[in-house]
Amino acid sequence: MADLDRVRVVLVNTTHPGNIGAAARAMKNMGLTRLYLVKPRDFPSDKARWRAASASDVIEQAVVVETLDEAIADCGLVIGTSARDRSIPWPLINPEECGRQVIGESSNHEVAIVFGREARGLKNEELQKCQFHVHIPTSHAYPSLNLAMAVQVISYEIRRAFLDDGQEAQTGEDSAAGPPDNSQESILSLGVEQRHWDQEFSTSEDLELFFEHLERALIKIDFHDPDNPRQLMTRLRRLFQRIRPDKMEMNILRGILTSIENKTGE
Ligand code: SAH
Repeated sequence: MADLDRVRVVLVNTTHPGNIGAAARAMKNMGLTRLYLVKPRDFPSDKARWRAASASDVIEQAVVVETLDEAIADCGLVIGTSARDRSIPWPLINPEECGRQVIGESSNHEVAIVFGREARGLKNEELQKCQFHVHIPTSHAYPSLNLAMAVQVISYEIRRAFLDDGQEAQTGEDSAAGPPDNSQESILSLGVEQRHWDQEFSTSEDLELFFEHLERALIKIDFHDPDNPRQLMTRLRRLFQRIRPDKMEMNILRGILTSIENKTGE
């Protein structure tokens, strides 16, 4: 069943505490309460609390962490927001699709939507930790929204998908039982039918450990030269983020890498 409590908003290196407060308010208006702050510049802050208005509880309960990896470690779906095109295209969805994807998958695992810095957005290495990117269609004359406004738009789409899913209409409660879950029908599955999947999806932490292992093994067999990396690891990251290996598949892949390492000796 769709579960808004399994959806977190992650703000990376936010500069202005007012934006944190405004983001908290935007979230609570739409029924989201779990806010993660990666190394905010100025927090806790009265300005944040003031801008949050009646969402100060979201601010009080915000989880402050040092790295993006910590904020998303246990998530089975991570979606990164982007105000502009990046050098390597990634699976890209629009806000409406994002809402449906988040609601569909919230019945299966923890979900994170990641927002970037006011001045510079998310770095490529951060965007590469995501399965999807979402872009809010804006005017080419001025494509980047204020951070909290972007949180508002995405939170609204999550709310719309949640309501379409019938949960609240039926019960009047965000987290109470609703009608049978048909949210998976609309999921952008990219080849994966999740409703009948027999295994849990890998988490962000599983994937990061796998990418480290993969890189070590590829260096060992001289396939990958860290001094001349080209886009190899980026392309491999995109491949596996797109495939979304489950935990069993991940164990097999890790086992293959270990065998390769053992065969090649010290
Ligand atoms: N100058 C930065 C813009 C940062 S705006 C850049 O070029 O990337 C701050 C954050 O708001 C972004 O990191 C993103 O999380 C969100 N945001 C702003 N505009 C957006 C848009 N059109 N689509 C999706 N997210 C957007």
